[in-house]
Amino acid sequence: MRRHKTVFVDSDILVVGGGMGGCGATYESRYWGRDLKIVCVEKANIERSGAVAQGLYAINCYMGMQWNENQPEDHVRYARNDLMGLVREDLGYDIARHVDSTVHKFEEWGLPIMRDPQTGRYQREGKWQIMIHGESYKPIVAEAARKAATEIYNRIMVTHLLMDKDRPKRVAGAIGFNVRTGDFYVFRAKAVIVAAGGASHIFKPRAVGEGMGRTWYAPWSSASAYALPILAGAKMTQMENRIVLTRFKDGYGPVGAYFLHLKTYTQNAYGQEYEPTWFNTLRERVGDYVDRHPVPTCLRNHALLEEVKAGRGPIRMVTKEAFKDAHKETVGWENFLGMTIGQAVVWASQNIDPKETNPELTTSEPYVMGSHATCSGAWASGPEDYAPAEYQWGYNRMMTVEGLFGAGDTIGGTAHKFSSGSFTEGRIAGKAAVKYVNELGKQTPQVSEAEYEELKKTVYKPMENFAIGRNEIVAGTVSPSYLLPIHGLQRLEKIMDEYVGGISAHYTTNEPLLTRGLELLYMLKEDLAHLGAEDLHQLQRAWELQHRVLASECVTQHTLFRTETRWPGYYYRADHPKLDDENWHCFTLSRYDRETGKWNMEKAPVYHIID
Ligand SMILES: Cc1cc2nc3c(=O)[nH]c(=O)nc-3n(C[C@H](O)[C@H](O)[C@H](O)COP(=O)(O)OP(=O)(O)OC[C@H]3O[C@@H](n4cnc5c(N)ncnc54)[C@H](O)[C@@H]3O)c2cc1C
Repeated sequence: MRRHKTVFVDSDILVVGGGMGGCGATYESRYWGRDLKIVCVEKANIERSGAVAQGLYAINCYMGMQWNENQPEDHVRYARNDLMGLVREDLGYDIARHVDSTVHKFEEWGLPIMRDPQTGRYQREGKWQIMIHGESYKPIVAEAARKAATEIYNRIMVTHLLMDKDRPKRVAGAIGFNVRTGDFYVFRAKAVIVAAGGASHIFKPRAVGEGMGRTWYAPWSSASAYALPILAGAKMTQMENRIVLTRFKDGYGPVGAYFLHLKTYTQNAYGQEYEPTWFNTLRERVGDYVDRHPVPTCLRNHALLEEVKAGRGPIRMVTKEAFKDAHKETVGWENFLGMTIGQAVVWASQNIDPKETNPELTTSEPYVMGSHATCSGAWASGPEDYAPAEYQWGYNRMMTVEGLFGAGDTIGGTAHKFSSGSFTEGRIAGKAAVKYVNELGKQTPQVSEAEYEELKKTVYKPMENFAIGRNEIVAGTVSPSYLLPIHGLQRLEKIMDEYVGGISAHYTTNEPLLTRGLELLYMLKEDLAHLGAEDLHQLQRAWELQHRVLASECVTQHTLFRTETRWPGYYYRADHPKLDDENWHCFTLSRYDRETGKWNMEKAPVYHIID
């Protein structure tokens, strides 16, 4: 069997994932920790990694306090309403009060932000969004992180966190492998900030076969942000709050600029407006949430889904009117060319010119993330000056594991942070982590050699399984003694789709389905010990699958625990079809015990700090 070199890296602060949150954490850690060793480790290359890899056309979270456009309190109210009442207002407020300064930095670093020629202010797309020429958004942000870091390690996938050998509830570093050289890395750190993005491909996607890489959320968002803290014993929150997006069909092109800036609108196959039709029946399920402005994202999805079920699909975006205006036509195309090129290509390949044809919309498969119109993630301590006592047990953005921080999609309860808010949350976590490290004194965590040596064997096991199992077959990919990552992934997606409320189940589930889904997930977990990896690329796929499966189990446990339908349009508990504010106006929390494999579920109160 091939031997893999072990490389040791020491740091004060280790940032896992160099996307928006990770770059923010790296940048700010340097600001407060001038003499500290700050290391960022990334499984791709931070120049073009993460959900912003392709670029963006808008920054979706900007208050505009310099022009008195919005105040942080307004953003908390907005996010709370959109999430049907449940957000961590302390964390959301904390991001909102700092996010403008982040955006100003982006502009200073060279990001072109469009300006309104009349007012000279940033060009608004909507109340919270500003428009950018953002094709190079990620390289610009990455440059700031590169300059701030002591070292960036690209192409290393982190598979596990390491715990302090004397205090097993304290983090001491992480391990991973280089996806190109195969070297094994042991990162020793005083504090770790996880910013490893969200999770696509845990539910079966609409695009399968050779098109399976075409999802809305980035296909490389592989749930490490959740699996790493879960395995370390961190509490997670709102993991049932998976998100479903209404997007242009087949390319998943975002609709924000179309609705908000181009003022396009939707209609059913017969040219009728359909949303209000469904709002009366929705009122019986969710009360007056449906009358709020803006109507929560999940409820708008619900109207679309019901209209299609009633046989009046497809739903179309009416673009023909807006595209008569040459300027709007340019914006419409540029929006995709700067952000989701695949959508422009799909239209070209399907002979869709939005000036002539109103393109179809569809709803995506569910994703798990903490930065969009959804708030799944780790349960984190809040800001010292603002969080209620019950939400404070340590440093800002520290999870329930000592020394372990998070940002962006990793942190739960804080919807609507998007790219700028994720970077801002990284900054907040970086600042707090520096404080934690400075106050540690001599009590530095120590990694256990036995732990990382054992993990080293576990990490490369799929390659060993393949090398041995391969001898049993002469052709093809199916072996009696190993499971390929792609086969495991398809099995996971099928379980989640059919039992936990994916597209083929019309996002609907119930207790018996969830219970059976869990049984099937446990069987899949048993088989993961037999994953086979042909090469280092497949080894990465194997560990991405491990992370996705654990996150999926967590989603399923949370969905089972919350016996109500809080977010119709995201998912439905058919056995509890209504929103139940009396019993469920609360957060759901889980904690995984890796020794026993058991989940402990509990409720936590929602504090409304802002009126
Ligand atoms: C199609 C699309 C459109 C969007 N549109 C907008 C928009 O218009 N405006 C806006 O403001 N926001 C938009 N967003 C949202 C925005 O991109 C996210 O909110 C933001 O990127 C989340 O930041 P993050 O740091 O949590 O995750 P990411 O930016 O995804 O970063 C996570 C990083 O972790 C790395 N990583 C993952 N696992 C590991 C591991 N095990 N080891 C090491 N590294 C790992 C990844 O490679 C990645 O670099 C959009 C997102 C998508 C996908």
